[in-house]
Amino acid sequence: MTIIVTGGAGFIGSNYIYYMLQEHPQERIVCLDSLTYAGNLSTLMPVMDNERFRFVKGDITDRKAVDKLFEEETPDVVVNFAAESHVDRSIEDPGIFLQTNIIGTAVLMDACRKYGIKRYHQVSTDEVYGDLPLDRPDLFFTEETPVHTSSPYSASKASADLLVQAYHRTYGLPVTISRCSNNYGPYQFPEKLIPLMIANAMKDEPLPVYGKGDNVRDWLYVEDHCRAIDAIIREGKVGEVYNVGGHNEMSNIEIVKMILRHLKKPESLITYVEDRKGHDKRYAIDPAKIHAQLGWQPTTKLEEGIEKTIAWYIEHRQWWETIISGEYRKYYEKMYANR
Ligand code: NAD
Repeated sequence: MTIIVTGGAGFIGSNYIYYMLQEHPQERIVCLDSLTYAGNLSTLMPVMDNERFRFVKGDITDRKAVDKLFEEETPDVVVNFAAESHVDRSIEDPGIFLQTNIIGTAVLMDACRKYGIKRYHQVSTDEVYGDLPLDRPDLFFTEETPVHTSSPYSASKASADLLVQAYHRTYGLPVTISRCSNNYGPYQFPEKLIPLMIANAMKDEPLPVYGKGDNVRDWLYVEDHCRAIDAIIREGKVGEVYNVGGHNEMSNIEIVKMILRHLKKPESLITYVEDRKGHDKRYAIDPAKIHAQLGWQPTTKLEEGIEKTIAWYIEHRQWWETIISGEYRKYYEKMYANR
């Protein structure tokens, strides 16, 4: 079986490639990635010589390039991770989010229709459901929760999901969608909460926390997400949406304090900055469907996952220090300098 993994030089995609090459020795993985600021070829270096792996630099919005790849590879499965994924960047400049996340998805699915495919899997997010109030811990997102987005990022992901469902209904494309909660783990770009806080704490720099830090996220260790997608492409029912989450809710400030505790750094490093525009209060996934239908459940507890992640960032300092120099530095200063 040949699987095209788009966005495989990014955080979750690269973890998925490692997971698949290890778990399924008979399968071939082709990674299509345009290497934006979030894509990093050094992440994939250890598998570059693997004969079951091929890396192709290309843009999912480039119809000619996508068609050429499908002609060459005749893939059985496409798993689409490629996206612009950072909410703050989507607030600054939504255009590229619409292009990659919506148009890119349509281009990939058109190629799937043209060349035939056993499964197209769309990697989506719980952010398509909007948010939940902080004072209703009894409420969770189910697959039936209406789409109700807050940011240009989540609106673009929800639009893609709607297109995926439309391609299934209209053209009979064999699709599945997973909507996952916040991931953390190795190879995450240090603009996202957990790696940013680890990196800043390691450098004894201020840890910028939005608002009061009371926004709640449902955290999932990235390998658990990879295992869920693997289960869905093999056993998931065509046309269905699967929520993926770990019942691991924690407020941002609690996460930040946990990181400081593990790194033995003082809480005085925390600096509260002006809140993100339209900041979602709480995300919480009900993963009952994937558990009941596919037997999936997360295996990594939050505290254990945070410990593993910190250990990884300590061991791979050069990886993230290279990334946060240059262009990213300018972006970081623009985002946090005047808050
Ligand atoms: P990421 O930003 O780390 O990686 C995105 C990758 O896509 C990068 O390698 C980038 O180079 C590539 N890419 C971007 N535009 C492209 C294009 N036009 N053509 C080809 N490649 C392109 O993102 P991530 O955090 O790994 O997220 C992966 C997917 O999972 C996204 O679709 C995201 O919406 C979804 N998701 C993420 C989370 C999370 O917590 N990170 C949670 C749920 C869902």
